[in-house]
Amino acid sequence: MTDSATQDQGRLLAQARVVIIGGGAVGVSCAYHIARAGWDVVLLEKNQLTAGSTWHAAGNCPSFSTSWAVMNMQRYSLQLYRRLAAEVDYPMNYHVTGSIRLGHSRARMMEFERARGMGQYQGMSLEMLQVSDLKDRYPFLETHDLAGALYDPDDGDIDPAQLTQALAKGARMAGARIERFCGATGIRREGDDWIVETEKGEIRCEQVVNAAGYYAQRVGAWFVPYGGRTVPMAVMSHQYFLTEPIPELEAWSKDNGKLPLLRDVDSSYYLRQEKYGLNLGPYERNCRAHWVTPDDPMPEDFSFQLYPDDLDRLEWYIEDAMARVPILGQAGVGRVINGPIPYAPDGLPLLGPMPGVPNAYEACVFTFGITQAGGAGKVLAEWVTEGRTEWDMWSCDPRRYTGYTDPDYCLAKAMETYGHEYAMHFPRHRWPAAPDRRLSPLHERLSAAGAQFAPYNGWERATWFAHPDDDTSDAATETWERDGPWQPRVREECEAVRDGCGVLEICGFTRLMVSGPGARAWVDSLTASRLPAEKRVGLLYFTDDRGRILTEMTALNYGPDQVGLITAAVAQWHDRDLLTNGAPEGVTVEDLSDAADCLLVTGPKAREVLDQISDADLSLPWLSVQHDATVAGKACALLRVAYAGELGWEIHCDPDDAPAIWGALTVAGAKPFGMFALDSLRIEKGYRTWKGDLSSDYTLLEAGLDRFIDLSKSDFPGKAALVAQAEAGVAKRFAPLIVAAEGCDALVMATVWQDGEVVGEVTSSAWGYRVGASVALAMLRADLAAPGTEVEVDIFGRRCKARVQSDAPLWDPKNERIRA
Ligand SMILES: Cc1cc2nc3c(=O)[nH]c(=O)nc-3n(C[C@H](O)[C@H](O)[C@H](O)COP(=O)(O)OP(=O)(O)OC[C@H]3O[C@@H](n4cnc5c(N)ncnc54)[C@H](O)[C@@H]3O)c2cc1C
Repeated sequence: MTDSATQDQGRLLAQARVVIIGGGAVGVSCAYHIARAGWDVVLLEKNQLTAGSTWHAAGNCPSFSTSWAVMNMQRYSLQLYRRLAAEVDYPMNYHVTGSIRLGHSRARMMEFERARGMGQYQGMSLEMLQVSDLKDRYPFLETHDLAGALYDPDDGDIDPAQLTQALAKGARMAGARIERFCGATGIRREGDDWIVETEKGEIRCEQVVNAAGYYAQRVGAWFVPYGGRTVPMAVMSHQYFLTEPIPELEAWSKDNGKLPLLRDVDSSYYLRQEKYGLNLGPYERNCRAHWVTPDDPMPEDFSFQLYPDDLDRLEWYIEDAMARVPILGQAGVGRVINGPIPYAPDGLPLLGPMPGVPNAYEACVFTFGITQAGGAGKVLAEWVTEGRTEWDMWSCDPRRYTGYTDPDYCLAKAMETYGHEYAMHFPRHRWPAAPDRRLSPLHERLSAAGAQFAPYNGWERATWFAHPDDDTSDAATETWERDGPWQPRVREECEAVRDGCGVLEICGFTRLMVSGPGARAWVDSLTASRLPAEKRVGLLYFTDDRGRILTEMTALNYGPDQVGLITAAVAQWHDRDLLTNGAPEGVTVEDLSDAADCLLVTGPKAREVLDQISDADLSLPWLSVQHDATVAGKACALLRVAYAGELGWEIHCDPDDAPAIWGALTVAGAKPFGMFALDSLRIEKGYRTWKGDLSSDYTLLEAGLDRFIDLSKSDFPGKAALVAQAEAGVAKRFAPLIVAAEGCDALVMATVWQDGEVVGEVTSSAWGYRVGASVALAMLRADLAAPGTEVEVDIFGRRCKARVQSDAPLWDPKNERIRA
């Protein structure tokens, strides 16, 4: 099979429906999947296929992840790779050897249990291994200091170049055109089309995909004039080396085949058999980024090139691996590979719609692009051809990063993430690099009051308020347990909200003002819900054409030509693009997120507290709005809402006035509380949170949000699907659970069981201090969602008894307290 560039003697097609820029494993997989969906697609590669990171990748293919979305993507890849060679008749070296992931501590074994539960739900057979089992599987291993291991039978390694070529062959068989030695040099917009400029002419297309690997920021820069941003990434140097043949291993292999892939995640490296030698690849703490300083510019072309070897950096890891697998020390170092690997700040790829730019997508910045290529191609093809994906992919969505990701941030985070590639992600742990991207004027006062912070879309919000002697170290947060220094404080904060009055600054809310003739009608046409009446606040839900949840926004009514929308901080660019794309002429969406701050004042004594310092009418009912109130002499809007499940108001004010208002509230008796307490309080009320409980994995009906669907509206996206689902009945249904959890509450995607079968999953969970129980919000097989049903929740491998509750708040089921 030859490339179309050769077949057509260099002539370039003038038109295609989709153009993909970049021919690494990921770009080619995108072409394969888009072409197989029946779409006309052209892929441009400036050199040969695989010239970027792909050609030198080690080719390891794990399925392991503690992210549901990433696990889905990797599982799909491995299933595809097993059948691909036969499907396209392109033989590949793909060794499914299984892998052993070593655990040095109880905490690590708990992480493995969590992944095993998720894997089981996805149909994979991850297996926990005892230390005594290890030598049977890996005879060369020193095991005396281990706690156990996780075995993944589907893990293995693939030749990345052969994989890419096989995908390319499959893409061409489905009609894709692949143009090698045809670099894209720019893009421009003409009407609704993109014109992609290349070294060999121009191509007009409807949709463009940036799959340029570590060159993604350069390609992304072309989109800035069309609403785009600088792609948030940094390029790290990643090394592995191959040893000379090891006689002992050779002798063993002749009788026993290939060793499983070994990952010592607590020491931070992998070790794989390569022929009769070993391949060691560490993720070292003392890592190195490239192409970030003026004296180290990124070259115009780095095709098929490597960085100079730098084995000194790996010394500690080499010694550690030699102690773990002593035969490693029996052979000299052969080939060293030191290549560029792109990192987004959290180490996950950018896969999905390009923020701010219609009809443009990203499939780039992959750190594990070989094992993820298959799944990534499927996901990207769904975005392009259907506008939505089978699995909720928010954890990889490019819109999760907004304007705070300057180069310093990207570099600091990339270094931190690379150096902790295999680290555990504990629920209370805050990764410390690059803090304080967005600080409210209240920040210093909160800090002085003992606030511990976590970033929400870059905004630092208080999570809990420590007393002077509390342990606020990083180390204290490295636990899966509920207990920790924060626990007594969170309890006190929840009790203050329950019995008196609390105040919480929720800085960084996304605020979008939709204005212009027909603005209200435009928003109305997008949502399944009814817009609120004047001087009222209401919740709106937006769904896709399957009725699955896209987002939730709080709406304020400013008449027919203006609607104010307040949404989650991290939804900023997601929700902006949802409202902007396709907006009618004259309707604009203004982002006013920086223009206001929010203080939530809540608890049975909130009225008493506010009354001392406000002229507002505090007798107005729940869900009322006062736009022209004053608190502590400062102008503000008061929204009577109750996310904490108590009488309460959100005070929306000028950020510069927040310190004065907060000061007056605390003097009047409000106790500061943090986001940990709010999470517990909202879970007791069954209030869902975006991208936890409210994801595009579920329809509004499945999520139990029937009351927010206004079927009397003539139409809205997803209406037909929701009507059909209402008639057919839902397969899954939201239900709160009371769980007999012990020291740990369930994490998201903990599996729910009955009679030895997985019957659902937890979408969020916390200890409820008001109800005195561990509460989980879950999605269950619909027939089990009846109150009183007994199920079990798998919490780090322990099946904990749980009882289904009715889909009403566990705290104050009649909402009397919030209406008081
Ligand atoms: C040493 C090392 C070992 C690794 N080991 C593994 C592993 O074991 N398992 C794993 O899953 N991952 C591994 N990786 C990561 C993996 O290599 C990458 O994640 C993966 O190759 C990314 O593929 P890609 O298609 O996104 O990017 P790339 O392979 O970099 O492809 C991007 C392509 O875009 C082309 N391009 C750029 N600009 C233009 C333009 N303007 N016009 C046209 N074309 C353009 C480039 O030439 C390039 O071919 C490793 C990486 C390194 C450095």
